[in-house]
Amino acid sequence: MTTAERAGQAVMDSVETYLADITAAIRPLPPRKLALADALGAVLTDDVTAQWPLPAFDNSAMDGYAVRAADVAGATEQAPVVLPVSGEIAAGDTNRHDLVPLTSLRIMTGAPLPLGADAVVPVELTDGGGSQVAIRAPVEAGASVRLTGGDAQPGDLLLPAGTRLGAVHLGLLAAAGHGTVQARPQPRVTVISTGNELVEPGTQLVPGQIWESNATMLAAAAREAGCYARRHPIVPDKTDAVLAAVEDALDDADLLITSGGVSMGGEHDVVKAALATLGTVTFRKVAMQPGMPQGFGTVGPAGTPIFTLPGNPVSAYVSFVLFVMPALDALQDFSGERVPAAHAVLTQPVRSPAGKRSFLRGIMDISAGQVTPVSGQASHQLASLARANALVIVPEQVTSLDAGVTVDVMSLP
Ligand code: AMP
Ligand code: MG
Repeated sequence: MTTAERAGQAVMDSVETYLADITAAIRPLPPRKLALADALGAVLTDDVTAQWPLPAFDNSAMDGYAVRAADVAGATEQAPVVLPVSGEIAAGDTNRHDLVPLTSLRIMTGAPLPLGADAVVPVELTDGGGSQVAIRAPVEAGASVRLTGGDAQPGDLLLPAGTRLGAVHLGLLAAAGHGTVQARPQPRVTVISTGNELVEPGTQLVPGQIWESNATMLAAAAREAGCYARRHPIVPDKTDAVLAAVEDALDDADLLITSGGVSMGGEHDVVKAALATLGTVTFRKVAMQPGMPQGFGTVGPAGTPIFTLPGNPVSAYVSFVLFVMPALDALQDFSGERVPAAHAVLTQPVRSPAGKRSFLRGIMDISAGQVTPVSGQASHQLASLARANALVIVPEQVTSLDAGVTVDVMSLP
């Protein structure tokens, strides 16, 4: 028994211990063949290599005239080279074209370079003529030509396994001719808020009620983190209702988040009560502020991870950033960095409870390298959180910091 246990205090887990237990319990989603339209945010399980050269054929980089560079070598402003124009090639023209020496072919951007041509004279360097063209400057062989394979050769690595697909990656896959991709899909997240006091925003309140905000915020945070996310209708403080909501959500979610009902309030802590009979959820105290009461485990036949986040909105959000986001990454077996660690100089003194790591809400000025804690650090103060763009981290053993000290900060998404 430790001194704390003998003294009757619950032992708290460190942030790291708790996070390690979470990520160890998560099995990555199975990879699937995804259409590109469904693959934004998915994480590649295999390297993607080029099957064909990119571009697949020599083509024009400009609107102009396809020529042999040697034929226009003597062109000047004063003495243009005049060549007959023997035809026109537009983008999408799949016919074979041959360039007869000492002639030209009108050519558009993206059109295949005719056989026998080795350069394109941009229309700006000509008189733009239709049956014949006056060329006012020479061009080098290869000018304004995009060569076959100039962007990628067959077998080149286009995207390594582990890439989380963004817009440009999807564009590249499409350009390289891939209609589908093998990847772990975006996790599907359902957020369930519990509380008898909660009513839908936009409706009338009576004293004692509040507008529900956590499910809206956390579902949006999950979407910002690259998930499909939905908000379950508000659940009252009844064990049966919580169980029914969890069972219902299990059908189409890869990860569940509940909010509220996990503090020390006994019978009102219905999430605790409901999940005691279902799955492997354990409720723990984590040595942090905000967000000390945490719960995590798996439920349902597929072992779906579930987070029971505290109801205070700032606690819920900070918990999401610290624990749920890494869990979402683990579901996709994604090891890239989300929030680069940074340092900044405190502009004001701060206090922090002994034995807990504080995540104070702050406004970071990146160019000045400074961070200013916002006024209103209580865990219900969502307006203060909304003014912040960073969390200032104060270590467990530190109870106060003076202005001017350098601190660790995490940028908020
Ligand atoms: P609980 O964790 O259920 O004890 O709730 C702690 C505090 O957070 C209480 O002030 C609740 O009213 C508030 N709270 C709980 N759930 C929500 C929610 N979904 N939206 C906004 N505030 C909430
Ligand atoms: Mg509650």
